[in-house]
Amino acid sequence: MSIQDLFKEKTVLSYEVFPPKKQAKNPSSIYKTLDVLKDLNPDAISVTYGALGAKNNTETFKIAKTIKDYGVESIVHLPGIELTKADVLEKLDQLKALNLHNILALRGDLPEGDFTPGDFRYASDLISFIKENGDFNITAACYPEGHVDSPNIVEDIKNLRIKVESGVDHLITQLFLNNDHFYRFRERCALAGINVPIEAGIMPVTNKRQIEKMTSLCGVELPEKFIKVMNRYEDDPIAMRDAGIAYAIDQIVDLVTQGVDGIHLYTMNNPYIAKRIFEATHNLIDHRAKVIANKNLPKVAQI
Ligand code: FAD
Repeated sequence: MSIQDLFKEKTVLSYEVFPPKKQAKNPSSIYKTLDVLKDLNPDAISVTYGALGAKNNTETFKIAKTIKDYGVESIVHLPGIELTKADVLEKLDQLKALNLHNILALRGDLPEGDFTPGDFRYASDLISFIKENGDFNITAACYPEGHVDSPNIVEDIKNLRIKVESGVDHLITQLFLNNDHFYRFRERCALAGINVPIEAGIMPVTNKRQIEKMTSLCGVELPEKFIKVMNRYEDDPIAMRDAGIAYAIDQIVDLVTQGVDGIHLYTMNNPYIAKRIFEATHNLIDHRAKVIANKNLPKVAQI
């Protein structure tokens, strides 16, 4: 069943990994991560490509293929900002040869300093081009608090609508730490006629400096409750990790209860954290599938 069809059946669960930055030092670390993730019941695992200016692109397709060989759907991220049409055609051919049919099509982070722009100014240009040149399922990015380059949320939603109409099958959000932003965004999408499923991107935060840098780059609010957690535990890595896991679980419980289409966990290649979150939430995530399948749910006394 395609990922798109799964949204009709259940709350979708996907994980995101990135090709390890220190290839030469520890090339097998990502495969150890995947060994754990594949057993945590994912509907898909996505693999980043050059995120945050990283140059580690060569492994993306290889890792996605390994995921597919495990019997799990993989989604290949593809930022178009520096690619020509010929580059994209070549990559589409490689993907077809590897039997990979899910692409998260992106503009990409703008490289620092001078760079040679390719043929795709916006993600929507890339998506139209991919649709013309193959049979791919297209995922795209969206921003509950607005994209940083956007003058305001209204313009951003208008642009998102153009993007979705260019051929998007489902959306994944940037991380957010205040679920209210997600609920407002979901309403705005509905009002704008954006009707594709939206997966909520959840990032378990275990490092104060890292999240401060990331949220300021991405324009994400750090809620008061979250700041208090970080300030209290920043000098105690284990407590900070557990508080980050608990915060992410709390977000997921609320989202699933409020009927989110799917959860996309930014794993940061940390299988331990993904496993803890899975163990705490999988019964909730599976609940909708059980109800749709009309299975006899066990009575409390039988559990
Ligand atoms: P777009 O949809 O093109 O939007 C970019 C900006 O242009 C927005 O402000 C939008 O409002 C505006 N815009 C769009 N269309 C128009 C139009 N027609 N006219 C005027 N303005 C317009 N980056 C990587 O490099 N590699 C990755 O692997 C990666 N993975 C990601 C995964 C997820 C789930 C997310 C949320 C982001 C990811 N990113 C990744 C980051 C992403 O590339 C950046 O956020 C980038 O700045 C925007 O990409 P986009 O595809 O959303 O761009």
